[in-house]
Amino acid sequence: MPRIEIVLSQIRHNTRVLCDLYGRQGISVMGVSKATLGSPAIALAMVQGGVAFIADSRIENIQRMKAAGVKTQFVLLRSVLSQAETIVLNADISLNTELAMLSRLSHYSVMHNCIHKVIVMVEMGDLREGVLPCELSQFIKHVIALPNIKLVGLGCNLACYGGIKPDANKMQELSELTIAIEAQFNLKLGIISGGNSANYEWFDAIQSQGSQGIGRINNLRLGESILLGREAANRAVIPGMYTQAFKLIAEVVESKDKPSMPFGDRCQDSFGNSPVFENRGDRRRVIVALGKQDTLVSGLGVEGDFEILGSSSDHVILDQGDAGKGCAIGSAVSFDLDYGSLLAAMTSPFVQKQFISDSINP
Ligand SMILES: *Cc1c(COP(=O)(O)O)cnc(C)c1O
Repeated sequence: MPRIEIVLSQIRHNTRVLCDLYGRQGISVMGVSKATLGSPAIALAMVQGGVAFIADSRIENIQRMKAAGVKTQFVLLRSVLSQAETIVLNADISLNTELAMLSRLSHYSVMHNCIHKVIVMVEMGDLREGVLPCELSQFIKHVIALPNIKLVGLGCNLACYGGIKPDANKMQELSELTIAIEAQFNLKLGIISGGNSANYEWFDAIQSQGSQGIGRINNLRLGESILLGREAANRAVIPGMYTQAFKLIAEVVESKDKPSMPFGDRCQDSFGNSPVFENRGDRRRVIVALGKQDTLVSGLGVEGDFEILGSSSDHVILDQGDAGKGCAIGSAVSFDLDYGSLLAAMTSPFVQKQFISDSINP
């Protein structure tokens, strides 16, 4: 079975570096656990590293972490109408963009005699979730009238679907909307959540000019930068961070010298593609027991003298160079993962999750 090795002390370290960095400018951090299937051990490492909240897109993951005893404020990143009652009972805060959803949350909050806190997401150009700025004031008017719903903040999400950068203009726009909403409704919003791991560049540029430009932004929701040590706009490594807290390991099932050109009449491959090949003569080809069922193969990087040639549902085919080399059947090949590969591997039932303690920092 392929396994993913997870070094919790490195995740804790990354979390602490980011919480200190952003905290110096008054920005709190939500540790985003969705790429880990809501792993309680990883959430705990984030809490120990200093996050004030754990945020996940799935209420099932939040239930899993709560059941395992993780103590923090839980934030639901994506609200689903049919889960409204479970959300009210399990999430402290949810992000929302639809009045139908908010009315349902209000209904169940009244029924269970509790207050549910919400952050309204604003559409700032990335075209994933959010209320358009021109409709925000009307929207907020309805939200604050809902019984047992408490509006605690505004947020936006960029660099996810449309590939739009969270830059100084976007952050200033969110700050200005905050000020306008507060003035119009005579309220104070506590959480202004400016974005995700793609906001690092904005922050880094602003910080070097003093803290003026931070405006009202006082929270970020961070998954990738905590887990993989990279910002998410250009995938640059953040100084002082571990980038290999996760490693995927698979077992060699075949190792043979073979021609580099397929032979016979051509047809489509198993995924409907018509692949093209370059003749490089005979090569050492190694197959590992890993495939598209386990991870997103295109986001893997292989360690050692291998090159990834391709994959099918259960096989990754590697080139190990000139004919005549080779490695033993049953030996291990290691891969590092990007965010997509991590998400797929952590949520695959076929990948064993193994926590490794680091000898220096167990
Ligand atoms: C997944 C998600 C995040 C975390 O994004 P990263 O780039 O991994 O930091 C933040 N906010 C929302 C709404 C999300 O869905």
